[in-house]
Amino acid sequence: MSKVKVYMVNTKGLGMGDSLIDRLESLWNHEDVGLKDWIKEGEIVAIKTHFGSRNQTRHLRPMYIRKVVDLVRKAGGIPWVCEGVGLFWDERHKEETMSNGPGFVFLASRNGINIASMNAPVVMDDGIVGTEVFRVHNEKGKYIKNVALAMGLRIADKTLIVSRFKGHDGAGFGGALKQLGIGCVGNEGKGGAHWGGGENIHVKRPENCTGCGKCIRICPTQALSFDENKKIVHHPDKCIACTMCFAKCHFEIPPKELEEKRIFAVKRRIPNIEQVERMMDNAAGVVKGINSDGEDRLRYINIAIDITSHCDCMSAGGNLLVPDLGILYSNDPIAIDQACVDLVTKAPGIPESPAETGLDFPQGKIDPVPEAMEPDSLKLGLFSLWVDAESRPIIAETQLAAAHAQGIGSREYELIDITPKKEKT
Ligand code: SF4
Ligand code: SF4
Repeated sequence: MSKVKVYMVNTKGLGMGDSLIDRLESLWNHEDVGLKDWIKEGEIVAIKTHFGSRNQTRHLRPMYIRKVVDLVRKAGGIPWVCEGVGLFWDERHKEETMSNGPGFVFLASRNGINIASMNAPVVMDDGIVGTEVFRVHNEKGKYIKNVALAMGLRIADKTLIVSRFKGHDGAGFGGALKQLGIGCVGNEGKGGAHWGGGENIHVKRPENCTGCGKCIRICPTQALSFDENKKIVHHPDKCIACTMCFAKCHFEIPPKELEEKRIFAVKRRIPNIEQVERMMDNAAGVVKGINSDGEDRLRYINIAIDITSHCDCMSAGGNLLVPDLGILYSNDPIAIDQACVDLVTKAPGIPESPAETGLDFPQGKIDPVPEAMEPDSLKLGLFSLWVDAESRPIIAETQLAAAHAQGIGSREYELIDITPKKEKT
């Protein structure tokens, strides 16, 4: 079987008139890549990216997204710059937040992504609270068979997933697959992956309920009500595990007292490995839902620069793991991520990287891993703060293997470097 082609422009020898933005354009225009011809006149092209989080300093710089917007327009397409609502509800930062549509659009503007800077609409593709979805049945799903594809991506003619490739605190790495499995699903898909769906949510201490009703007002699916004593009742068949009720109800409980006082809880903590497998169930449903008519509607660009161990939703930007690598493109989400994982593994660590310094965060502490500074050594996953220590060395591999098991691409690829040759002067 022939290998999937992954095209790349690297970061070597950048100079005047030859920035990485120029190289992005040359990649786009390369005749073997075929991106120009993939877009037809008048088609809506959803550019699905990550808007970054509050005070994040490593999210994808707006100029890369703007360049893609310009290239889509030049090819005759109508660009939409898209993102999905984040899970949870941020009661502290309601104005600039990932956890509701208006807040996320406003946060994106602060991060440099807005209608003026993009020259395109900047929109939430799944609505105000992540419930505007198109349901896709994925029979092959190991845990999630009913996938909540963001409606905006369903109705666009083409979807171009543009990611900063980096590590990820929960999934080992974040690239095209993570965008498909979390970024392109509504809160139901995110909740299903992280919290195991509505059947895993329950009211642990109804006796603590004061009857204030805040959780009932915010629940997007009417999955909460009062009983005859005005104590909260949860209806798992309606619940999408968005956890907004958790945040609303528990906001004023000091963190140290939370476990003994919490009203809402999960019945079973979903293990990290299972969470990643659930994400890839979603990813397969997203691919199926977008390409349901057999058309070729999805493509992927991974911008492998600013490669931290943290994801875009972690407000700490963090030090880099390895030097900048370049920009990769493929029509296969597994092949492009596999190529990025392999490039990061091959690269040497950067001084002051988490491999050298370790991490010490309120969320957890990870000791330095000196061998991860060496070329040809595993790096991704070793510094994933939310992953348990035993799962860190296998979490990145789990993501790739789970996606492959879902049949959405190939791990066999040919990496073709199409960086423009410099003319000798
Ligand atoms: S927010 Fe908490 S205290 Fe208020 S009604 Fe809901 S469960 Fe009860
Ligand atoms: S009950 Fe809570 S977790 Fe379930 S949908 Fe409503 S707000 Fe979300």
